[in-house]
Amino acid sequence: MEPIIRLENVSFAYKINEKTSVSVLKDVSFSIFPGEYVAIIGHNGSGKSTLSKHFNGILTPGSGDVWVHGLNTKETDNKRDIRKAVGMVFQHPDNQIVATIVEEDVAFGLENIGVPREEMKKRVDEALETVKMSEFRNRPPHHLSGGQKQRIAIAGVLAMHPDTIVFDEATSMLDSFGRKEVLQVMRKMNDMGMTIITVTHRMSEAAEANRIIVIEGGQIVMDGSPREIFKHKQELDKLQLDVPAVSQIAEIIHQQYPDFSRDLIQEDELLTE
Ligand code: ADP
Repeated sequence: MEPIIRLENVSFAYKINEKTSVSVLKDVSFSIFPGEYVAIIGHNGSGKSTLSKHFNGILTPGSGDVWVHGLNTKETDNKRDIRKAVGMVFQHPDNQIVATIVEEDVAFGLENIGVPREEMKKRVDEALETVKMSEFRNRPPHHLSGGQKQRIAIAGVLAMHPDTIVFDEATSMLDSFGRKEVLQVMRKMNDMGMTIITVTHRMSEAAEANRIIVIEGGQIVMDGSPREIFKHKQELDKLQLDVPAVSQIAEIIHQQYPDFSRDLIQEDELLTE
């Protein structure tokens, strides 16, 4: 299967001034395949956000290459197609709201690319339905809760019909209810066939994904299923990343009673913090 996103020996440094630069990503290589639900986890300053901005060409590597659907992100001619394929949802819901009425906000990106009115209405309806916000379509977004605003921002990205959505700490400003709402939307979109990449510092959220990539000091230090990753409790402790309590309990029970499947503990319980 062809990867959607392929990183090959990616290194990146922020230039501070003529003489100084801060090296952040160091020789990062991995691929993301269609339909995956991937969490990228690391503590503050590990390089997650810098990495996620490479997935749709907001940042391009200092050395190495990023390919999206086989298109190199360094080529300016590819930018439009790459942005169309990979949507981004950011941390602050307020910064992503641009209109005074919910449905106008969701339609904003479509208007910019000149989508015909009928098609626009259809896409806005579908996107609001997916994030369960149809009943709020005529409301001013600024009166909504953080989780609802974030779902409106997601609807705006969804309406553009990307095949992949990158969530850059998209739940970190939300309360636990808002987080749960957004996580449910991520799962639903993945079930619908979309590729989901979520960047987070919360292990309980990473546990929702099917694959976890751990980043430390700008390098990938682990890459595997949640079950594989959680086996390395000592290494995770050193990185100050907690294995979710329910996964620890499931592992202990599984050791004593091998018939007990760790999967019996459902994702809803992982969300109760
Ligand atoms: P994370 O998302 O894991 O918190 P970031 O990618 O935001 O990590 O940051 C990684 C490192 O890069 C940090 O040391 C941070 O201070 C530095 N950094 C991030 N953005 C910039 C920038 N615009 N200019 C200079 N340094 C930056």
